[in-house]
Amino acid sequence: MIFDTHAHVNFRAFDKDRDEVIKKCLDRGVSIINVGSNFETSKIAVNLANRYKNVYASVGLHPIHVDTSILRVKDEDEGIGEEPDFNYDAYKELAKDNKVIAIGEIGLDYYCRPKTKTKLAEFKSKQKEVLIKQIKLAEELDLPIIFHCRMAHDGLIEFLKQKNLKGVIHCFTGDLKQAKEYLDMGYYLGFNGIIFKLDLNEVIKETPTDRILLETDCPYLTPPEYITDRNDPIGVEYVAKRIAEIKNMDLNELIGKTNENAIKVFKLDRKE
Ligand SMILES: [Zn+2]
Repeated sequence: MIFDTHAHVNFRAFDKDRDEVIKKCLDRGVSIINVGSNFETSKIAVNLANRYKNVYASVGLHPIHVDTSILRVKDEDEGIGEEPDFNYDAYKELAKDNKVIAIGEIGLDYYCRPKTKTKLAEFKSKQKEVLIKQIKLAEELDLPIIFHCRMAHDGLIEFLKQKNLKGVIHCFTGDLKQAKEYLDMGYYLGFNGIIFKLDLNEVIKETPTDRILLETDCPYLTPPEYITDRNDPIGVEYVAKRIAEIKNMDLNELIGKTNENAIKVFKLDRKE
């Protein structure tokens, strides 16, 4: 068994064959956490989790879908745009489901940003405001958090230092210093197919095995050796293989340890 701790089989890219993909993964022993990026995709993730054993859901509003009235986001694979506001009560209702194991993905994303100073400040403060609301929800429901962070690590680190939260920094792409800061605060680091694009070898070597989570972020970030038009949770096997090589350790030992990490941080042993 192996866990893909960050998948999006809930996205539009899987509309035509979602159930086939999930069955194929489960038959192969790949367990899946489908991560929501807004209310719609969170709802689909929860529905899927309730239909399959070894499939779990995370619910949350991704920072790129926070409506700042400044930038418009549209992704054909994901299929939706911004939400007018974070509806705390609606997300809370959804997150109370027994198969919801985390709040996420939530965080800060300054990759696409407005150009003027005033608009940039407004944009950043709106993302932060929605992040704070979702952290409150995670605390209220005692759930760990799946953080998404792009071009904003130093800001997120400073912010998290004032908190005492549990969770993972998914798709970690920061530097070694930032990795250590997250690890010191007790967070896990999630690695996916981006390790084939960016040089994260040093970070991976220095991250203790008991703090690594394996993921795909499918349909995105297909590992080069996985010959497919669209990444899916099976891609996690290639990520595992590469990380075992970088850490110079036995593949099955790496999978076993990272499975334990997933079970521990998301309390999966308490779920059906
Ligand atoms: Zn994601």
